[in-house]
This record gives sequence, structure tokens and C-alpha cells, in this order.
Amino acid sequence: MIDMQGVYKKYPNGVTALNGVDVTIEQGEFVYIVGPSGAGKSTFIKLIFREVKPTNGKVVVNNVNLQKVKEKRIPHIRRDIGVVYQDFKLLPKLTVFENIAFALEVIEETPKNIRRRVMEVLDLVGLKNKARFIPDELSGGEQQRVSIARAIVNHPKLVIADEPTGNLDPDTSWGIMNILEEINARGTTIIMATHSKEIVNTVKKRVIAIEGGLIVRDEHRGEYGYEV
Ligand code: ADP
Ligand code: ADP
Repeated sequence: MIDMQGVYKKYPNGVTALNGVDVTIEQGEFVYIVGPSGAGKSTFIKLIFREVKPTNGKVVVNNVNLQKVKEKRIPHIRRDIGVVYQDFKLLPKLTVFENIAFALEVIEETPKNIRRRVMEVLDLVGLKNKARFIPDELSGGEQQRVSIARAIVNHPKLVIADEPTGNLDPDTSWGIMNILEEINARGTTIIMATHSKEIVNTVKKRVIAIEGGLIVRDEHRGEYGYEV
């Protein structure tokens, strides 16, 4: 699913964010990415959906070598990846339904299929009754559930979540974790960067720790490993 070999990323300002990363992630895995601020976690995640390009090294995602892919195919490749952000990134003037339908409209689905699929994912995240609300009318946890629904509406093989519970209280965070686990149980690979020691140490999964641009730990059913 994901294969990185000898990956380096140096930003134009001279900062080296990744310093030789080798890692393989298989289809269906659930992986936590942990490490201190500035370690390179976001850069690692952004390489996967080609928001940043490596300075050096090989990045293969869904059998596509991102080094060799033509720019015009990038949007197509991104359609197989759902992304969930800490700050949700919902469009404030659109309803919940429209925020989710947006991703389907760009691939020219029929209105009937769009409606069926949007209601299906809203059901999965427990928000069928909020389809007509706008984001401001929802709690933080509900907004994050909308953003997860949006991320999975195209049936991606991979969902990347960059600190999805970073802005949520502990109770709400567990609800989000349950949904991500449910999506994983249906076969979707999940890669989740997180600072939640409680979640990582309770819901045991593979843990990849990044420090100073290097993978310093990669454990099956690992621990968070930091004090905060
Ligand atoms: P983390 O997500 O673990 O906090 P990042 O990948 O965001 O780490 O950052 C790794 C390093 O790269 C940090 O020193 C950060 O300041 C730097 N960095 C991140 N993004 C950029 C950018 N667009 N331009 C320059 N430096 C950046
Ligand atoms: P949480 O406990 O998840 O933080 P809130 O207390 O923020 O939830 O919200 C509880 C309920 O009130 C939610 O179902 C949400 O839809 C509704 N709600 C929150 N803020 C608004 C708002 N500005 N306008 C309308 N409804 C709101």
C-alpha cells in the first residue's frame, strides 16, 4: 500500500524535515504516527498524498510511484485517499450534505447515487439527522464526524488523519476513534498522527515514532512512549 525508501525532505528554507525514512505499510493496517512537535510527522503524511514532494527517495502509494507520476494524474491519485484534519476544514457556507456531496460531484456521479451515498456515510458517522445543518451549528465532535464522512464518501483505500482528535475533548475523541476503527474494520488502511497518549496506549495498534526526521521506533501494538 505504502512503500518509502530512502526518503529525504529538505524545505526551501534549508530545514531538513525527513532524514532518510524507510517504511512499508500494508493494506488494512491501522498505524499511529507519534513524536514530538517538529519531528516530521506532518511532512511524512503530506508526502503520502503528494502535498509535498521528497527531495530524495522513493514514495509508492497504492502501487503508484509518486516520483514518476505526471502532474495531471495527481488529482486522480488523491481520490483514493481520504484526509481528515485537526481543524476539520469544512466549507462554512455549505450544509453537511453539500460538504460531503462535493467530493462526489466532482467525479460526476448522478444526483440519485450522490444522495444515497451521502446518507450512507452520514449514517455510518451517526449524523443522518444533521444533513441540513451548516458546520457552525454543530459541535466540534460532530464537525469532525462530517469531515470523516467526507473523507470516506469515495470509498478510498486509505484514510490519513492528522491529529483528528487534537481539538476535541476526551469523550468526543473516543467517539471519533470508534468511527475510525469501524472504517478500518471494513478494510480501509488508516494512518493517524496523534499526540493522544491515552488513545495510543488504550487502543493498541502499530506505532511509528518519528524524531528529528527519522523513524526511531516501529512497533506492533506499541506504546505512545512520551510523557505528554
Ligand atoms: P511535526 O508534524 O512532527 O510537527 P513537521 O513535518 O510539521 O513536523 O515539521 C518538521 C520540520 O520541518 C520542522 O522543523 C518544521 O518547522 C519544518 N517545516 C514544516 N513545514 C515546512 C515548510 N512548509 N517550510 C519550511 N519548513 C517546514
Ligand atoms: P459537544 O458536547 O459535542 O461539545 P455541544 O455542546 O457543542 O456538543 O453541542 C451540543 C448540541 O448542540 C449539538 O448537537 C449541536 O448540533 C448543537 N449546537 C451546538 N452549537 C450550535 C449552534 N451554534 N447552533 C445550533 N446548534 C448548535
